[in-house]
Amino acid sequence: MPRRLTGFTPSGHLHLGNHIGAVRPIVAEQSADTVVFVSDLHALTLDHDPAEVRARTLEFVTLLLASGADPDACLVFVQSHVPQHTELHYLLECTTGYGEASRMIQFKEKSRRQEHVRLSLLTYPVLMAADILLHDTEEVPVGADQSQHVELARDVAIRFNGRYGPTFTVPRAVNPPVAARIMDLADPTSKMSKSASTTGVLRMLDEPEVLRRTVMRAVTDADGEVAFDPARKPGVSNLLTVLAACTGDEPARLAGRFDRYGELKTAVADAVVATLDPIRERYRELEKDPGYVRTVLRDGARRARERAGARVDAAREAIGLLPG
Ligand code: ATP
Ligand code: MG
Repeated sequence: MPRRLTGFTPSGHLHLGNHIGAVRPIVAEQSADTVVFVSDLHALTLDHDPAEVRARTLEFVTLLLASGADPDACLVFVQSHVPQHTELHYLLECTTGYGEASRMIQFKEKSRRQEHVRLSLLTYPVLMAADILLHDTEEVPVGADQSQHVELARDVAIRFNGRYGPTFTVPRAVNPPVAARIMDLADPTSKMSKSASTTGVLRMLDEPEVLRRTVMRAVTDADGEVAFDPARKPGVSNLLTVLAACTGDEPARLAGRFDRYGELKTAVADAVVATLDPIRERYRELEKDPGYVRTVLRDGARRARERAGARVDAAREAIGLLPG
């Protein structure tokens, strides 16, 4: 298995799209070469509420465990518990051009939307490069919006290795193993997002009634035909995608089983509840046992620091710092 790393930034709430597109594939393939972390430092690059970031960080870790991430099988930790991430960040800042960082599309888009832009928003892809290179990552499963940042991590690794001697594994971006992209139920031409403020997001911790209501209110269209045709029928096709993802079937084949939108929605609501209910219940159990989650995090941080320490030492020496 190639070494894979995935980070979840604790802004907003995890949703069914995150579960299908990111969490489930990790759990299905987890091994000693799987690295999963909550990237709390990345949540500080935009306006944030300190209490909210702290609460979401714990919530995300607990949800990952509730979804089946096994801390004995893979490495689970919180980014800020491993100071080597920020230490390597600085060394990589000294390996990255200002022009290179300011060309990042996400930086351009996000900075345009704000009045006060934090410096960390500009340097965040370099911290992401540190996240990746610190853990000897070979593959980074990301959506299209993050592939430019993985490219940057590659460029920086190649440059560092070229200038200072072989130090880092050169990573590559890979498409998440499950291709299904879940769209917003209220606006099926946009993807379901943590940061969206629509009524079409199925949150992993929503109660069953809330999930059902969200599905029953999903936007469809006027022609009444159940068919899988994402371009012409985005709403109905998205419902079929959700049903397929939850039941392990094919969207086009499922379309033949329904005559009416109402029947389809009921089946989708049942499947979503059946998928998320056990996770929510497990989450509530884990919540009652904060000592367990804390132990997992302490142990994960210790293991991550051990691995990361060796890599940072190598980078410090290569770049010209005198050992202390
Ligand atoms: P944000 O709006 O803050 O960007 P997000 O919902 O896009 O939030 P990310 O933290 O960007 O979430 O992504 C976490 C992981 O979930 C990534 O691997 C991403 O590809 C996956 N993911 C996010 N949204 C979806 C979706 N709608 N369908 C499938 N996978 C998704
Ligand atoms: Mg995103």
